[in-house]
Amino acid sequence: MTTTVAAYAAPGAKAPLERTTIERRTVGEHDVLIDIHFAGICHSDIHQARAGWGDAIFPMVPGHEIAGIVAAVGSGVSKFQVGDRVGVGCMVDSCGECAPCRNGQEQHCVRGNIPTYNGVGKDGEPTYGGYSKQIVVTESFVVRIPESLPLDVAAPLLCAGITTYSPLKRWGAGPGKKVAVIGLGGLGHMAVKIAHALGAEVTVLSQSLRKKDDGLKLGADHYYATSDRETFEDLAGSFDVILSTVSAPLNFGAYLGLLKTGGALVNVGAPEEPISLNLFSLLGGSKILAGSMIGGIAETQEMLDFCAEHGLGAEIELIEASRINEAYERVDNSDVRYRFVIDTATI
Ligand SMILES: [Zn+2]
Ligand SMILES: [Zn+2]
Repeated sequence: MTTTVAAYAAPGAKAPLERTTIERRTVGEHDVLIDIHFAGICHSDIHQARAGWGDAIFPMVPGHEIAGIVAAVGSGVSKFQVGDRVGVGCMVDSCGECAPCRNGQEQHCVRGNIPTYNGVGKDGEPTYGGYSKQIVVTESFVVRIPESLPLDVAAPLLCAGITTYSPLKRWGAGPGKKVAVIGLGGLGHMAVKIAHALGAEVTVLSQSLRKKDDGLKLGADHYYATSDRETFEDLAGSFDVILSTVSAPLNFGAYLGLLKTGGALVNVGAPEEPISLNLFSLLGGSKILAGSMIGGIAETQEMLDFCAEHGLGAEIELIEASRINEAYERVDNSDVRYRFVIDTATI
């Protein structure tokens, strides 16, 4: 027994998204049924809907920045009640038994986490994401959205928020630390807000100065254009942490030159092509090149509570579902400030 739910799906890698219906599983003992109110459009939705990261499952319903209200709970659910404000991020399940799962790093489950879409659930069925009216998720992968955060601006926190919060925390962004954020897009604008709220001195490194006023309003202390070669001379050896949020291939060697001794360049972007790097750029100054991928469920809750405490939501452009394809093109052209969010009432 399943429930038929309206959704927007990509029928294939070359096809635009279109309205359709999907089947959601019946609410099980530990499941939560969520009425989705808002779903953010993440750059990785676009990569995957075009099979840019390799094999993909079609039809695909993207969306892993989900905010909504609990509509029903299974008999064994203890964390949530009907009416609760909740979110779902990039994964909907994992093995629950391996070391990373037991350590709150479900995203690194050794058997592979089950992604919110473009994956296969424990029931053997494809997973479908947030561009839909409802979703059924096991309660341990559902997080609570605090009352003070509006659901529309909270939705993007479920990917863009945790993807930037986790490495900023891990690499010590805070008072007395100089943090640079590469790219002021969906991820970058949240990185600026969060690093500023953590107490760091924040610099944006963007291709041009086009969004400088925005960057400073979002909480950056400084703003530099990377198209200006002098930027790399002026800022040499400046930063404790640099967070790269861009999905285009970068000259990582040049950015490593901006780190202090022992500093870390952390990449959360996901370019489709490999990069090359002269490893000498890591030797002088004993520098660190690191990666990070979303965050665990407990840390995602911590991030939401932090954002609520500091009044941080995403800067969004709310759209009707019929404009998803147009929104994808605008994301391609970096023409969004700073996250499209779908009003799922329009699906
Ligand atoms: Zn995402
Ligand atoms: Zn596991």
